[in-house]
Amino acid sequence: MRCVKISTSDDRMDCRDMFYAPINPLPRECPKCGFPDLDHVPQPYSLVKSRTMSPNELAGAENGNFFIRERVRRVLDILAQGQCTYYPTSYKGTSEKTPWLLAVPIHQVVTAKVNPSIPRCAACGEPRSAHPGTQWSESLFGRPPRDQPRGEGWSSDSDYDLLKSSTWGSSEQGWDQWISRDLFMSVRLLHLLKKMKVKGFHEATCQKPISPDKNESAWINEKLQMLELAGIPFHADGTLSDQDAKWLRGYIKTHSREVKSQCDIKAIERRFKAKLPKSYLDFVGAVGPTSFENVDEQEGFTASILTPDELEIEAGYAEFEDEESKAINGLMFATTGHGDCFCFDIQKGKKEFAVVLYKHEGNFFEPYADNFAACIKRFAGGSDG
Ligand SMILES: [Zn+2]
Repeated sequence: MRCVKISTSDDRMDCRDMFYAPINPLPRECPKCGFPDLDHVPQPYSLVKSRTMSPNELAGAENGNFFIRERVRRVLDILAQGQCTYYPTSYKGTSEKTPWLLAVPIHQVVTAKVNPSIPRCAACGEPRSAHPGTQWSESLFGRPPRDQPRGEGWSSDSDYDLLKSSTWGSSEQGWDQWISRDLFMSVRLLHLLKKMKVKGFHEATCQKPISPDKNESAWINEKLQMLELAGIPFHADGTLSDQDAKWLRGYIKTHSREVKSQCDIKAIERRFKAKLPKSYLDFVGAVGPTSFENVDEQEGFTASILTPDELEIEAGYAEFEDEESKAINGLMFATTGHGDCFCFDIQKGKKEFAVVLYKHEGNFFEPYADNFAACIKRFAGGSDG
């Protein structure tokens, strides 16, 4: 199957400064030149916490490895079984696990020949440097850059959907400046993940990206059905599903009225150090502060949506007994008239927050809806608006 080289964000979770300062250094393998053991996976594997909060579900790692979130793991377990080894990761300086797994492709491919004029170590035979642009003499795998000749036996086909280069690239000055390996993914798997709205990977090319051909498209459609049957969601955790988004648009359309209030959203977001969900802003912008009666078919249960300038942090001054409530960062967006209230569970790296119901009598939070749109749908009694 056709494979392409993957490019990812330069803000690596396992690096301090692009790929120049790895935070999980590799052990030396060669006693003479100190060349590292590139296949060693340091354990525990540490990540920069702020960078783990990206809403992406795929990210690049050192050495042709990559990071995935749980939903992608479920996809790869079905479609690329046995092609990677997975390792847990923890926040740098702690033993606390992150939501990301390190995926190490098991299959490797030789991708280039290094210019024979580069001096090599007498002990391990590795070249002193191997800059992909200027010190590789031939490309053997993938789409070669325009100025590099394709070597004999060149290919971009593999038996695997995921693989990394055994060939390494480095600074022109030496591998001790920076060193990297490339990650490759099949065209079909890359485009299937795009259809599932998985973000973080692109084809590395300055040319037009390769689109799936007829066979690859057929595979994608067949496997999407299989994943749907397996119950894997087609939208990222923390975003709206197409269905929820469509429902909310319909509701807003039939209930919109003239809304006077003009709040400074940016100032409010700065105050809460969080971006408000687009679904909520769309709703209050078009429908305004509104109340839902007899919520969940309970007589007298009224939920009143607050405007952005009425939002309030609910967790800040409450002491929660249970662990689940302690982990919630509640921002109240609807009151009930009987002391309970509805809150967004603000979690960094998410665009749409889960909705929790604060129960004032027991002083705890209860999960209520996956997102604001699903919450309004529940308030409206599951009606079509
Ligand atoms: Zn050596």
